[in-house]
Amino acid sequence: MTGASRGIGRAVAEAFAAAGDRVAIHHRDSRELAERLRAGLPGDGHTVVRADVADPEQVRRMVDEAAEALGGIDVLVNNAGVFFDHPITEVSYQEWQDAWRRTLDTNLVGAANAAWCAVRHMGPGGRIVNVSSRGAFRGEPDGPAYGASKAGLNALGQSLAIALAPHGIAVGTVAPGFVETDMTNEHLKSPRGDAVRAQSPFGRVGRPEEIAAAVLYLASPAAEWTSGAVIDLNGASYLR
Ligand code: NAD
Repeated sequence: MTGASRGIGRAVAEAFAAAGDRVAIHHRDSRELAERLRAGLPGDGHTVVRADVADPEQVRRMVDEAAEALGGIDVLVNNAGVFFDHPITEVSYQEWQDAWRRTLDTNLVGAANAAWCAVRHMGPGGRIVNVSSRGAFRGEPDGPAYGASKAGLNALGQSLAIALAPHGIAVGTVAPGFVETDMTNEHLKSPRGDAVRAQSPFGRVGRPEEIAAAVLYLASPAAEWTSGAVIDLNGASYLR
C-alpha cells in the first residue's frame, strides 16, 4: 500500500485493516506518521516499509520487505503520487523538464515497477489497484505531466489486466475527482474551491474513505470481472 501515511492512502490502509487484512504501510519520509498509523490499526501483523517510489531499487527492496513481513502479497495498491504546478507558458524549460521527470517517475514508472516486483510474490487471486485521477480524462492545464501520468496509469492497468489474467491476477483502477487531502487543501481553501465543490450536485468534494471503499472492492475476490476497468469516482461531477 504505497503512500499510506496520510490522505487517501491512509484511509485505504485503515479500511483494509478494518476488514481484517494485514497491511504494509509504505511511506517515503514520514516514518513517525506511518508508525503511529500502524500502532492504531486494528489487528496484528501490520508493518511499515520505506521507499522513494521513483527509485527502482528502493521499490524492489520495499516490495521484498513487505512480502517477507506479511508472508506474501495478495494486493498491491499503487497510491503514492505527486502533483507539481508547471503551466507551460509560465515555467522555465528546466522547470518543465524537472516536473515531467519527477511526475512520471513517481506516478507512472514507480507504479509499474511496484507491479513488476509485487506479481513475483502473488498467486492466483492476486490484485493490483492503481489510484489514477480525473486528470487522466479531463486535462490538467497547470499540471500536464500529472494528467499524462494518470492517463498512462489507466493504460498500464489495462495492459496488465490482460497480461495477468492467465495468472488469476486482476488489475483495477480508481480515478477520483477532487478529494480533500493535503494534496488539494490549498486549492480547496482558495476561492477556486467553491467552483470545485459546485461541480458536484452534492455540493462537496470526495472523502478519502469513499475512495478507500472502491479500492477495497477492486481488491476483493468479487472483482475479477472488473479487471481492466477504470472507475470514475466524483459524485456525479462533470455530468451537467
Ligand atoms: P497526499 O499528498 O496526501 O498523498 C500522496 C502520498 O504519496 C504521500 O503519502 C506522499 O508521501 C507519497 N509520495 C509522493 N511522492 C512519493 C515518492 N516519490 N515516493 C514515495 N511516496 C511518495 O495526497 P492524496 O490526495 O492522498 O493522493 C493519493 C493519490 O490519490 C495520489 O496518487 C493522487 O494523485 C491521487 N488523487 C488524489 C486526488 C485528490 O483530489 N486528493 C484526486 C485524484 C487522485
